[in-house]
Amino acid sequence: MAEIIEKTVYMPLLPLRGLNVFPQMVITFEVERNTSVNAVNTACGKDGLIFLTAQKDAMQDLPESSGLYKVGTVCKIKQHIILPQSSVCRVMVEGLYRAEAIAIHRGEKLYTADIFRIDDKKERVSAIRREALVRNTLSLFRDYSSRETGIPGELLTGFLNSADPAYISDYIGQHSKFSLENKQELLELNYPYRRLALLIKILNEEINIMDIEARLNEETQARIDKDQKNYYLRQELKAIKDELGEDEYDDDDEYIPRINALPVSDEIKSKLIKEAKKLAKEPFGSSEASVIKSYLDICLDMPWDKKCDEILDIPKVKKMLDDDHYGLEKVKTRIIEYLSVKKLTPDAKGGLICLVGPPGTGKTSVALSIAKCLNRRSVRIALGGVHDEAEIRGHRKTYVGSMPGRIINGIISAGVSNPLMILDEIDKLGSDYRGDPSSALLEVLDPEQNCTFRDNFLEIPFDLSDVFFITTANTTSTIPRPLLDRMEVIELSSYTDEEKLSIAKLHLLNKQRKKHGLATSSLRVSDAALRSVISDYTRESGVRELERSIAAVCRKAASEIASGDKKTVSVTAKNLDKYLGVPKYKDYNKNFSDEVGLVHGLAYTSVGGEVLDVEAAVMDGSGKLQITGNLGKVMEESVKAAVTCIRTRSAILKIDPDFHKNCDIHIHFPEGAVPKDGPSAGITICMALTSALTGSPANANIAMTGEISLRGRVMPIGGLKEKSMAAYRYGIRTILIPEGNVPNLEEIDNTVRENVRFIPIKTVDDAFPFVFGSFDKSNTKNETLSKAAAESDIRLRQ
Ligand code: ADP
Repeated sequence: MAEIIEKTVYMPLLPLRGLNVFPQMVITFEVERNTSVNAVNTACGKDGLIFLTAQKDAMQDLPESSGLYKVGTVCKIKQHIILPQSSVCRVMVEGLYRAEAIAIHRGEKLYTADIFRIDDKKERVSAIRREALVRNTLSLFRDYSSRETGIPGELLTGFLNSADPAYISDYIGQHSKFSLENKQELLELNYPYRRLALLIKILNEEINIMDIEARLNEETQARIDKDQKNYYLRQELKAIKDELGEDEYDDDDEYIPRINALPVSDEIKSKLIKEAKKLAKEPFGSSEASVIKSYLDICLDMPWDKKCDEILDIPKVKKMLDDDHYGLEKVKTRIIEYLSVKKLTPDAKGGLICLVGPPGTGKTSVALSIAKCLNRRSVRIALGGVHDEAEIRGHRKTYVGSMPGRIINGIISAGVSNPLMILDEIDKLGSDYRGDPSSALLEVLDPEQNCTFRDNFLEIPFDLSDVFFITTANTTSTIPRPLLDRMEVIELSSYTDEEKLSIAKLHLLNKQRKKHGLATSSLRVSDAALRSVISDYTRESGVRELERSIAAVCRKAASEIASGDKKTVSVTAKNLDKYLGVPKYKDYNKNFSDEVGLVHGLAYTSVGGEVLDVEAAVMDGSGKLQITGNLGKVMEESVKAAVTCIRTRSAILKIDPDFHKNCDIHIHFPEGAVPKDGPSAGITICMALTSALTGSPANANIAMTGEISLRGRVMPIGGLKEKSMAAYRYGIRTILIPEGNVPNLEEIDNTVRENVRFIPIKTVDDAFPFVFGSFDKSNTKNETLSKAAAESDIRLRQ
């Protein structure tokens, strides 16, 4: 170390961008940065020696000392001139020796460095190896420089006769077009023969890369040549045909005869022929040609007059519908009526069915069954989340990658012009700045217009009037009004547990057995096990989860049988958890206990009825009202109405009339991830708040629904059928309903009607005795309230 320090020399440093200077080489370059010009001037003012080293990142103007390579070359400035009318200085230097910087100083005016000299070391290399290294390097460099690297031939002569490995390696390092990293590596190596070995490696790599580049170039050139040749030949052919007076396109053309054979109007034919002629003019392989080609292919593939023979045999349809689906009597009757009318008035256009109901209630499968009964092919088009009109009607063919819309695609995949088209989830259509898909659908579904439906891609009208459309939806409330008006709505409601059991026994189990390759005898599932799947493993309006659970049982059974463990599998309520794991909903119903501030409400969502709990808490405070649980505006207003309604009854309820000033109230709807809205929770909110204010626990075995007015009137609501079904499913056996909904009791499913007690109420006061039957024994009103409860009960029992 001491020796190194002793030999250290201090001199100006010039950072180089993308360049190295090797010893014994003379090169000229220009410097522009002030610090560099100052370094040159300082060196020239002394002994003319300067340390040149490369920047790691050529883009930096003032690199840190860590941004410079430590190893560089000490050079002698042979000449320098400032170019006229600029601050650029041209410098000619000669490399003297390799050196390493011990310290680099970044001064304000210039960079300087403490450097010490590195000399080449002696190596022990046999004479033959020396000769081989030199020869190999020279021949590779000759090869390398002959491949258009821009290295002038005269450079080669400069060193070809030399046998000095140090000179040869530095010479090649200086004059080749290697990467800076490679060159730096060469510079840092102070063993000349090892440098030659490294050079051989680098030269070989470079030559390989150049070979590959050349091959790629040749291939691209060949392709361009072929396209150009085709283009010229076509142009020539065209000129010859023009000269002969022949029509350019004879019947040999691939498309023209096929277009002429299409069963379409002359107008459409001539439009297609025009496109075919356009195609012939396009250079082969051009992007325009491929657009026109795919357009013509699609047009020619359209099933213009291909139809399936519809069979409308009403008794047969009835039988098939019965075979495929359990129950759904009203739905089947409506469908039979609809089809009977269709049979008697074959020419009458229009009529369009919309099957509405919670998920998994069989809408799609009923629609598929209808297709089967009528002997029509079916296609399903999912409309959920479609925001863009172009998805229905297609993009203009001028757009790259454009395609026909979903309707025309459906026709193509059905392969006939009269399929049964199921438009799934029509209630989930969106609309935004990209246009309104419902207006395009209106045209599709309107019998007056759909005989000339025009897809943006096809640009020619296609007759959709023979298509049998069936739409499905979870709710009618979000279907655009004009669309709804054109549809015949048939409702499918939630299934009761008994119905689910029958569906599972008669259909789902057999279907899944077949799917999993199980014979009836090899998998037996007891009724009790199915009941348990329905009540303990699933909670849904339809039977989708149930079907999935049965599929899971079948999968496990199949693996037991296939692995040879068992010959037959018998699933009972006792061993069910072995197949389905821990029950998800077991004992849910038994957990109900009366609590202060917690009341069960009933909601109607797109997935069917739901029991929706409402929680209320009252604390000392300053009258803040907090409402949480992902609520819509209407629901927030209901809460405010409930507060006012209770304030008007503070005397009856014996609560602080100024509670709205003295307390903080928090109303919360659990399951905050689910958005909730609508007025029907009014009565529930009112009861939860009353419970919290009075400190009386609310009856946990009652659920309720109803909108309230400020005066406390309870007003009718929608979706009673589904709501009562949900209460029944959750094990609640008493429901308070608005009196105005009594006529709707007719629609309620028989099983629910038999098991659930419906109590109609006119005002919130009617509800108190049922919810707080035992609250406030000292209350003088208590007697009247109990009497009211008893009376209303009698009314119901009559
Ligand atoms: P949706 O379209 O209403 O969401 P699906 O038609 O997809 O429901 O029905 C889900 C599954 O339940 C299907 O396998 C269907 O066959 C079955 N399914 C539903 N209802 C019945 C029924 N009443 N009888 C027989 N199977 C049914």
